[in-house]
Amino acid sequence: MAYKFIDNYRERGARKRLVEILEKKGIEDEKVLKAIGKVQRHYFFDETFWNQAYKDIAFPIGEGQTISQPYTVAYQTQLLHIQKGDKVLEIGTGCGYQCCILLELGAKVYTIERQEKLYERTIQVLPYMGYKPEFFLGDGSVGIAKHAPYDKIIVTAGAPTVPETLLKQLNIGGILVIPVGDEQSQKMVTVLKTAENDYERHVLDTFRFVPLVGDRAW
Ligand code: SAM
Repeated sequence: MAYKFIDNYRERGARKRLVEILEKKGIEDEKVLKAIGKVQRHYFFDETFWNQAYKDIAFPIGEGQTISQPYTVAYQTQLLHIQKGDKVLEIGTGCGYQCCILLELGAKVYTIERQEKLYERTIQVLPYMGYKPEFFLGDGSVGIAKHAPYDKIIVTAGAPTVPETLLKQLNIGGILVIPVGDEQSQKMVTVLKTAENDYERHVLDTFRFVPLVGDRAW
């Protein structure tokens, strides 16, 4: 498969403006903003839609799924407090944009997608762009026990509840960020694992994600 990867002044300028928009909307983490300013989001779009790539909007990526809105990606990433070398599980690879942001921050990323067509495309595009996470195809609502524990877990689809299995796969001191609610809207929830069976939960702002579908989900 041939990809057209061109990053010229138009895209670079649009990326800079996107960072300014996210700053105005309240994203404060300099490292996250720097990563947003670096990852070439237009490569996840058909060339016809490159003019949409740096708008702060979600966009269809096929199979009824979306590339998340940049604000949402920045918001979730900021909550993870990524440190270089953190082992991160991402549930819902989609086209891979969020994954690239995590990799830019120096995380080691394990990312899982349940839709085969998206998975097949993303495992080709990301390495072509120079990003090399560990890719998995399957139901991420049960996590990936084989590679647990993780320092951070991010869920990029809306869940009905916080899956117990994901909490079990967190390191002590680890953080889970997950949107929880019904199919119309979800609250962003963060869970900090303070001890083997102790958790500190915070319920934050409202978002709208595509549903997390699986054994411990919808
Ligand atoms: N992370 C993506 C990005 O960077 O734009 C956003 C992905 S989209 C909002 C959510 C993704 O979660 C979809 O691709 C969907 O197929 C996937 N998904 C839903 N349920 C899942 C599950 N149980 N396991 C893995 N992926 C799942």
